[in-house]
Amino acid sequence: MAVTVETHGSVAEAARALAQGGVYLGGGTGIMRGVNAGAVQGRVVRSSDPALRVIRSTADGFSLGAGVTMAQVLGERDLAFLHAAARSVGGPQVRAMGTIGGNLFAPHPYGDFATALLALGARALMASGSPRNLDDLLRDRDRTGLVAAVEVPRPRDPRAFGFVKVQRVKPRGVAVLSIAAHLPREGGRLRGVRVAFGAMGPAPLRASAVERVLEGATLDAATIARAAQVAAEGLTPPTDPVATGWYRASVVGVHLKRLLERMV
Ligand SMILES: Cc1cc2nc3c(=O)[nH]c(=O)nc-3n(C[C@H](O)[C@H](O)[C@H](O)COP(=O)(O)OP(=O)(O)OC[C@H]3O[C@@H](n4cnc5c(N)ncnc54)[C@H](O)[C@@H]3O)c2cc1C
Repeated sequence: MAVTVETHGSVAEAARALAQGGVYLGGGTGIMRGVNAGAVQGRVVRSSDPALRVIRSTADGFSLGAGVTMAQVLGERDLAFLHAAARSVGGPQVRAMGTIGGNLFAPHPYGDFATALLALGARALMASGSPRNLDDLLRDRDRTGLVAAVEVPRPRDPRAFGFVKVQRVKPRGVAVLSIAAHLPREGGRLRGVRVAFGAMGPAPLRASAVERVLEGATLDAATIARAAQVAAEGLTPPTDPVATGWYRASVVGVHLKRLLERMV
């Protein structure tokens, strides 16, 4: 079967077209592999809507069009809190084309930027106009429509947000795992903690056991040790050519400890 590419002038039209079947093309860094290998066939839908590339500030943060690239994020000084995550995605060519919308749907072990968005409590604005929190969207990626934008709350204290990607091939390898932690404090105690792991499941996910340890605690050596101890609790990380699931589960606590120690 041949591949036909349709370009629609608005996100809404692209969403309507997708409802008839086909696959959406963002920057194409992931999907073009499938097209070239013959694994993606039939309709490929894209949108040239300029709104997809817009970054704007909102009352409590930023709205990033789903077609915003990693390179665009890196070019925005106000998005400095997201730079480590954006810089961790592939090399310069991938960052020039790869979009934040595509990163939400990139298969394991990809999704480093999505991991950061999840820890920040970002939500997706669907082409239908309805919002969806990323926890739900990432849990059920197969049955999701077109994402038009992602709304990212601004961390009140940028030092309360940390990100690390663990890789074996330097400087640009795929993730053994990635960790993003948002640790706001009130009166010295952690309040509203969100910690997310990438490459520790089929899609980026919340580190629930870690969050339970950290919430309401002070970020001291004893708390960090307890958080590290439970890091892999309830998780069954995948095995792939980069690392076995056993290895991922064994080292996640070590890397979480190092990240949290930097955030004390
Ligand atoms: C050499 C190489 C290295 C890479 N390294 C990394 C890495 O280190 N970390 C990492 O996280 N990723 C990596 N990737 C994967 C990929 O490049 C990125 O995840 C990128 O952000 C995907 O964005 P894209 O726009 O190119 O997605 P596309 O390839 O266009 O699409 C990917 C998937 O997302 C869907 N999609 C795209 N946009 C939307 C939308 N708006 N709404 C709904 N669905 C959508 C598509 O239908 C498709 O299923 C790498 C890829 C390559 C080729």
